[in-house]
Amino acid sequence: MSDASGSMVLNYEEAAAVVRAHARRLSPRESAVEELPLLQGAGRLLATEVVADREYPPFPRSTRDGFACRAAELMAGKLRIAGQLRAGEAWTRGAIGAGEAVEIMTGAAVPAGVDCVVMVEHVRVGSGQVGLAAARAISAGENIVPSGAEAHAGSVLVPRGTRMGAAEIAAAAACGYARVRVFPRPRVAILATGDELVGLGETPLAHQIRNSNSYSLAAQVAAAGGMPVIFPVVADEQEETEQAIGKAAGCDLVLLCGGVSMGKFDFVEQALEALGAEFFFTGARIQPGKPVVFGRLPTGYFFGLPGNPVSTMVTFALFAAPMVRALAGESETEPRFVSAQLASEIRVKPGLRRFLPGRLRSDGNGARVHPVAWQGSGDLAAAAQANCFVVVPETRDRLAAGEWATVLLL
Ligand code: AMP
Ligand code: MG
Repeated sequence: MSDASGSMVLNYEEAAAVVRAHARRLSPRESAVEELPLLQGAGRLLATEVVADREYPPFPRSTRDGFACRAAELMAGKLRIAGQLRAGEAWTRGAIGAGEAVEIMTGAAVPAGVDCVVMVEHVRVGSGQVGLAAARAISAGENIVPSGAEAHAGSVLVPRGTRMGAAEIAAAAACGYARVRVFPRPRVAILATGDELVGLGETPLAHQIRNSNSYSLAAQVAAAGGMPVIFPVVADEQEETEQAIGKAAGCDLVLLCGGVSMGKFDFVEQALEALGAEFFFTGARIQPGKPVVFGRLPTGYFFGLPGNPVSTMVTFALFAAPMVRALAGESETEPRFVSAQLASEIRVKPGLRRFLPGRLRSDGNGARVHPVAWQGSGDLAAAAQANCFVVVPETRDRLAAGEWATVLLL
């Protein structure tokens, strides 16, 4: 893998495996676990399990509005209506007797003695009695979820390391968690390099461009569970690059951007080397993003991401995001791939694994991905239209319209 010039260019699978092996060794800072009001935990990573405080459901729950009775009795004839039971109401009159039914609402606790709830749509009521509206088979257990069928008291509803979304927040609320313990966000340094870059507050001259990558990276870092720390733009000069890296090294992960290509003024790798870096790869056979660099300084891990805006985005999603997620304490660190049907044909030159901008759209039955026309890895306008990247395996020169393609989510 290491050629004569000392460069280490891996194929995508190899590079992903290297990152995975290092990500596995990372963990969040347990000493800095935060306790937050439940809703502030949205999007954060759980540092504790959500444990069921009681049986779920806590009582045999009626899942329909209808009549609670014995299935065999109702199949045989009419039953006397012994009372009505609403959700939130306790049945205090003991077990239901033979030949009796209770009118019951969705969410109510089914009284003892009965074995089913027959939907109100399936019965006829009159003179204090209930009978089937038409002959139909009723089975015991129908429309009742037994106590404990969903979860037993003490069982784990949400494991540690899960990102708190709506469902996890619902589980925590159901179990009485007014506050939740979450992992601290890892600090991720963002260092853009390039003499051509100016800041957002400045007006670029004709030959200059604004630094956009620091912002796309910050958004991606935050989405991956990290705390972005944007450093000033670094000039294309080795000594300044070394100093800037030194300042950023206090962070949990350092992301450099630009300056990793073969240009005469690409100093990032030399600066890292001078600071004692160990390199795990210095390129990947992918497009965009081929010059991506991954390694470790004595102070921690770093990535050198290529500066073309689409390359920066793709290499972050493929390689840096798993490291950020691992540092954030997320149990699922891998890049997020899904399958979608290609809306139109893609043709490429084979040899590299491609990640081409696409727009994922739901068509009601599933996802379709529409390739976005682009001018290459510097095309910010195409990136702005894209919300995913279509993966083209290195062996393929064409993906057909209608084919199921793998798609990398941002
Ligand atoms: P580099 O990787 O430094 O060779 O840069 C490749 C291309 O990406 C060049 O056209 C740069 O001007 C552009 N570029 C580099 N860094 C940034 C940045 N932070 N924001 C926007 N474009 C950038
Ligand atoms: Mg540059």
